[in-house]
Amino acid sequence: MSSSEPPFAAQRFPDPPSPEERCVHCEGSLSPGFLEDSGQSAPGSVRWIPGPLERGLLGGVKRFGKDRYDVDALRCDTCGRLELRVR
Ligand SMILES: [Zn+2]
Repeated sequence: MSSSEPPFAAQRFPDPPSPEERCVHCEGSLSPGFLEDSGQSAPGSVRWIPGPLERGLLGGVKRFGKDRYDVDALRCDTCGRLELRVR
């Protein structure tokens, strides 16, 4: 008995998003970008954090100890739709 390939192919999102990707709405070409966060502290980029949003006593979002992921925002050149990807 020898080891063999698993019966399924591991699926991955392209990383970074490939420029050949098309808008799911109108099939227009997508321009890469990201969403800026210019909140209360230093400007940065918007992050995606898994799990439901929770707020603390002061109304701030609880995010301590949670994983954060960069978010890519690809804009359709034709209809302006944003495709958001987490990496
Ligand atoms: Zn489009």
